[in-house]
Amino acid sequence: MSYDYDLFVIGAGPGGLAASKRAAQYGARVGIADLSELGGCCVNRGCIAKKLMVYAADFAHLTKTEVDYGWSQARVQFDWQRFVGLRDQEIQRLRQVHQRTLEDAGIDFIPQRATFADAHTLQVGDRSITANKILIAVGGKPIKPKISGIEHALTSNDMFDLKQLPSQIAIIGGGYIGVEFASILQALGTQVTLIDHDNAILSGFDDDVRLAVQNGLIQRGISVLCNTNVQSIEQISEGLRLMIEGDRFEPLTADVVLCATGRTPNLEGLQLEKAAIEINDKAIEVDDHSRTSQAHIFAIGDCTSRVQLTTLARSAGRAFADSEFGNQPCTVDYDLALSAVCSRPEAAAVGLSEAQAQAKYSEDQVKCYRSEFQPLFYSLSHCSEKTLMKLVVQRESDRLLGIHMVGENAAEIVQSLAITVQQGMTKAEFDKNIGIHPSTAEEFFSLN
Ligand code: FAD
Repeated sequence: MSYDYDLFVIGAGPGGLAASKRAAQYGARVGIADLSELGGCCVNRGCIAKKLMVYAADFAHLTKTEVDYGWSQARVQFDWQRFVGLRDQEIQRLRQVHQRTLEDAGIDFIPQRATFADAHTLQVGDRSITANKILIAVGGKPIKPKISGIEHALTSNDMFDLKQLPSQIAIIGGGYIGVEFASILQALGTQVTLIDHDNAILSGFDDDVRLAVQNGLIQRGISVLCNTNVQSIEQISEGLRLMIEGDRFEPLTADVVLCATGRTPNLEGLQLEKAAIEINDKAIEVDDHSRTSQAHIFAIGDCTSRVQLTTLARSAGRAFADSEFGNQPCTVDYDLALSAVCSRPEAAAVGLSEAQAQAKYSEDQVKCYRSEFQPLFYSLSHCSEKTLMKLVVQRESDRLLGIHMVGENAAEIVQSLAITVQQGMTKAEFDKNIGIHPSTAEEFFSLN
């Protein structure tokens, strides 16, 4: 049987783009569809769009510290509309780069919704397209909890369309997305309240990291309410009123409410049942090779139950293409995923947290090395924020299980050190590294 394509990819986010480019490099005839902008969530409403906002906010932090280094406080103004325009220009440029890369690779891009007609046929706009293999890379979407008045709350998607900087924002959800927006907006001048139902923000991260980021946010002026649930949101003349229950009971008022309570696979309108593709707990069920319940249909990235990160969507896309079109079967080791929180203070981690290591190896098999210190940069300043570094080690083998950091450049530093965990290095071998002096990173090699 002959098909229109060897591979058809649904969704041109980081996962779908990486897979289609790699498969085309192996000589496959590839088509890809997206109903929205090229680049997916990552470029348009996620990693990149957000990181540009983080950079904008960093100038506010630096401005506060510059007087401690002998500068006179310059009267500079932040212009939200101008920044948004510049940010969106850059995002548009990145979309064009993706478009050109697809063209150069000979991949057909169809800017339409794709829907299954049967296990080898897709309806893409008004075209019926057949493919030998199909990759589903449709990503995820934000979800809101059932709270009275939740329709007044924005999601992270809406945050990129704000016409002006809010003067007061209440953020429901202390995961990394809520924390990052809290940090950005506070630096730019918004009064921020961050609400989490757990006893600390950043559930899933190492407990020391959670506490260090939380204390840093509080020190910078964010009001963090833990053990707190939002009961209702109501429109009043002053803005939005939130009734809350937990560590604090007085109602809150804000002009914007952001709901950052999680994301779910975006399977709407795909008609997976027409191809008999199985779903488990709202996500597409896949094996280690990203194969669905149909042998020739695969799924990667945020539409599966894997950790939702660009790097993992991309790695899964490349592993799929190497296995299916490059004759090099391989899988992704999800345990070695790196994660970062681009807040100020910044956090980053690779490998296991202390609690995860104890659950895996037992409590007495895990040894942690940690240090909290004032970085040199703050020695002339009034800022008392500490940097935290932590190594999680398996006691018997001395093998590094996890690296965690909170402080300036945590993401860049942990990224460089991640190879030591990936290569199974021991703490003794790690300590033989010679640091760069004076630097923050050198402290990692003298933790005891
Ligand atoms: P997506 O990027 O979501 O792309 C899916 C694409 O499929 C979309 O373009 C969509 O339009 C398209 N599509 C959906 N249905 C159809 C259909 N039926 N037909 C055609 N096209 C369809 N991750 C990081 O690693 N680092 C970060 O710093 C980071 N920051 C983030 C910040 C925010 C605010 C958010 C929301 C996410 C962030 N992420 C970050 C997560 C990251 O963006 C996602 O994990 C990543 O984009 C997932 O890639 P994907 O290819 O699976 O899906």
